[in-house]
Amino acid sequence: MIEIRSGSIFKKTHSCGELSLKNKGETIVLQGWVQSRRDLGGLIFIDLRDREGITQIVFNPQVSSDAHKKAQELSREYVVSVKGKVSERSPETKNFKFITQEIKTGEIEILCDELEILNPCISNFPISRLDEEGERFLPGEDMRLKYRYLDLRRKKMFENLKLRHKVVKGIRDFLDQEGFLEVETPMLIRTTPEGARDYLVPSRLHPGKFYALPQSPQLFKQLLMVAGFEKYFQIARCMRDEDLRSDRQPEFTQLDLEMSFITREDIFSVIERLFHYVFKTILNQDLPVPFPRLTYADAMRKYGTDKPDLRFDLQIQDFTDCFYKTGFKIYEDITASKGVIQGIHLKNGAQEFSSRSKLDQLLEQWKLQGIKDMTYLSWTGSREFRSPIGKHLGDGEKEKLGEKLNPGEGDITFILSGDPERTLESLGKLRLELAARLKLVSKEEKKFHFSWVLDFPMFFWNEEEKRLDPAHHPFTSPLPEDIGLLDSNPLQCRANAYDLVLNGCEIASGSIRIHQRPLQEKIFNLIGLSQEEADAKFGFLLKAFEYGAPPHGGIAPGIDRLVMLLAGADSIREVIAFPKNQSAQDLMLGSPVEVPEKQLKELSLKVEISN
Ligand code: ASP
Repeated sequence: MIEIRSGSIFKKTHSCGELSLKNKGETIVLQGWVQSRRDLGGLIFIDLRDREGITQIVFNPQVSSDAHKKAQELSREYVVSVKGKVSERSPETKNFKFITQEIKTGEIEILCDELEILNPCISNFPISRLDEEGERFLPGEDMRLKYRYLDLRRKKMFENLKLRHKVVKGIRDFLDQEGFLEVETPMLIRTTPEGARDYLVPSRLHPGKFYALPQSPQLFKQLLMVAGFEKYFQIARCMRDEDLRSDRQPEFTQLDLEMSFITREDIFSVIERLFHYVFKTILNQDLPVPFPRLTYADAMRKYGTDKPDLRFDLQIQDFTDCFYKTGFKIYEDITASKGVIQGIHLKNGAQEFSSRSKLDQLLEQWKLQGIKDMTYLSWTGSREFRSPIGKHLGDGEKEKLGEKLNPGEGDITFILSGDPERTLESLGKLRLELAARLKLVSKEEKKFHFSWVLDFPMFFWNEEEKRLDPAHHPFTSPLPEDIGLLDSNPLQCRANAYDLVLNGCEIASGSIRIHQRPLQEKIFNLIGLSQEEADAKFGFLLKAFEYGAPPHGGIAPGIDRLVMLLAGADSIREVIAFPKNQSAQDLMLGSPVEVPEKQLKELSLKVEISN
């Protein structure tokens, strides 16, 4: 039977994480959850937990027989109020683990003289242990998400969300000092093209019409620049209906930022100072600024990706010219058909790949992923190697490779060949795999390597639809020196766009924007929007540019990913209070869900499911 009550007769005086010997003798009230109970016959002990920590409570029948009796009822996750005296623990019961972890409460305990049970826990608790050691026994993620409010009772989750709060507060404090204004922009809007599908909201008052939820506040922030706000930011929720990928959420949070009368240097400077401030205040780390920069072309060439992890080197090297006059037919054909032969050289690679079978296993594993043409050279001297293709290669190739790599015994070179784009992309992945195997980075070390990637292409070719797609979004300006290429060779035209990369994650994207109607119209035209379509979709923006729009630009760092990296977590779901699962469902609320016929009718909608 649950006793129905409206609250406690006492007021909580302290948290469960703050009492120490300094409070010895004080009468206090603690309120929280029973983490565990030990009944030693004469004495009952509980660990009482709240968000700040744990304090040991002792029920001694000689102090209060009533409290001791009630304490027999207690079990895990009961919510209780405890009044009692702070006393020093005897040497036997001192919690040395707590003391060594510098948790003050390890030296004291509370001798309870009044216990109130504020609410029992009457259901089987789906998480076997909430303490740190319990991490190993956590149920599967779906279970954690279904009972997220219980999962959030774990210290780790609370700390993650506290960290998130601090990051956001740090951002707000810094930008406020810099004269930025936080402005809220609407959620029910028209499409903002960021490359994903829109989430749509049907309009009841306008049957058959829909709002779109913002993929980002992009258009509004640009309009705020037209309005003369000059420095805007927002901690903005963005909604994108993307195909499921492992660490994406349908809704996520960005620091959205825009400035007028600036160049990209001003954006870099404000972001570098902002991150420096956040890392200093939160981790007490001095981030080296300015961040290194590399162009998109260099990033692709050296690392096979536009978001290189620069915590380690392992650059991709080009060996195509070592095989120009090779007698090895496969490589000969590749060079003749404008393919490439490239690879990654591992100094002392034999330490990891100590046997031929380990190397062959890696090739096998890559084959399974569809990468068939990888091979290796296992160097036995400065011009000698063992290799599956060894017998096809003559002294000429060995000499050229040796000259290029300056190898030593025990070095291993992995080689891939074929179409330039695919080869680079695969080598980019191999680079990450090798780094993981060689343990070149460790999450525990909390090393943060930021870099800017600049000069992205304006467009990519969309082979399916046979048209140009904007590489960033259609409001991005070309680099001034490349504007002429829009007419002659748009695929060669570089954008004034930049990404901020942190440890191999794209943490922010931004660009200097177009602020004049004719150029904006030209870009719409190049990406296949007719004049009428451009007017229908973005007429308001084109019009706004006619009223004296200032030059402007901005950026939007992702908050979820940033906090995830700061927390050393493996997924953004660990730093979002109520995330969706990997199939975009909210398992706690049970959404998405069908809606009653009546509701559909009000919206003038009929559901027909087609496959
Ligand atoms: N709106 C862009 C995005 O969400 C960021 C920007 O260009 O400022 O990626």
